[in-house]
Amino acid sequence: MPDFAIRHAAIFTVDPQNRVIPDGTLVVQDGVITQVGDDRAVTVPDGCEVIDGRGHALLPGLVDCHSHSSLMRGVTENMPLMEWLPWYQLEHRAMTEEFAYHSARLCYLEALQSGTTCVMDMFRYMDRCADAAAELGLRVQLAPYVADRPGKDFFSTREENRRLIHSHHETQNGRIRVWMGLEHLFYCTGDAYREAAELSREYGLGIHTHCSEQKEEEQAVTAELGRRSLAMLDHYGILGERTLLAHCVWLNSEEIARVADTGTSIAHCPVSNAKLASGVAPVPEMLAAGVTVGLGTDGPVCNNSLTLFEEMKFASLIQKATRLDATALPADQILRMATINGAKASGWTTR
Ligand SMILES: [Zn+2]
Repeated sequence: MPDFAIRHAAIFTVDPQNRVIPDGTLVVQDGVITQVGDDRAVTVPDGCEVIDGRGHALLPGLVDCHSHSSLMRGVTENMPLMEWLPWYQLEHRAMTEEFAYHSARLCYLEALQSGTTCVMDMFRYMDRCADAAAELGLRVQLAPYVADRPGKDFFSTREENRRLIHSHHETQNGRIRVWMGLEHLFYCTGDAYREAAELSREYGLGIHTHCSEQKEEEQAVTAELGRRSLAMLDHYGILGERTLLAHCVWLNSEEIARVADTGTSIAHCPVSNAKLASGVAPVPEMLAAGVTVGLGTDGPVCNNSLTLFEEMKFASLIQKATRLDATALPADQILRMATINGAKASGWTTR
């Protein structure tokens, strides 16, 4: 990559002070940002291509903390989650390697085009997803859709997840990482969760799963498994600093405290939660408790878009509207969720 500098842009650093540099310059050498600052304070090295950033804003890359690649969108509208799931699963029953590759390629391209540089993808045939990521240079965490309960064999196997660790973890200059993916408590056995916890410790891998997305789902988990979702995951030993839970719409205050105490992170997916009428996650309470919360699109099927700009706007507005509080989730907080907090939640940077 040739060295270049972008001059006279408004730079949103998202540093600990949320500094905004109104007339900023950024220098990239050998593919690495080497200088960021006020234009008058930065010396652009000889040989750098200079791009005029006047009238533009520069932001860190956005991080999609929860997605599922797919070729489907706009085909299962106006359905609640439990009605929607069997339709969605038709795609997985018919999935092939080629289908997975093209799904990932299109979704990753759409993500890149809207400013997303890192995607947590829970999907299938993830060696082919890694091929798609390589073509685009996107950072992707591969979290296979593991399901090992009887009748759920149309998702990924635990064996596939184990194989992927050895073939793909920390490949493509570290842009590709493998996570332990677990679909849901109704799809995975206790053994699958315990094995994920073990492999996470052994290889230093993250663990990604869904948790407490819908009220009816939470009630069904309690009725069938004898504990609420978070308590069940806790019982299986998977809560901790390497674990990222998608949704958590129905967590109560004790559960939020437990998530905070264990250092577990949450991927908040407000558009998906609204589209499937799942509810509004208590994000201000999560943040107040010290939980690291990132944003996720949940993929095209339950969002119809992969742009995190839409997610940012919606995340802020839905809290303001439902709490009758215009101060809820202001822009600087939302921008942190879509960037640095998302990077922390998905393990790209230390806390
Ligand atoms: Zn999901």
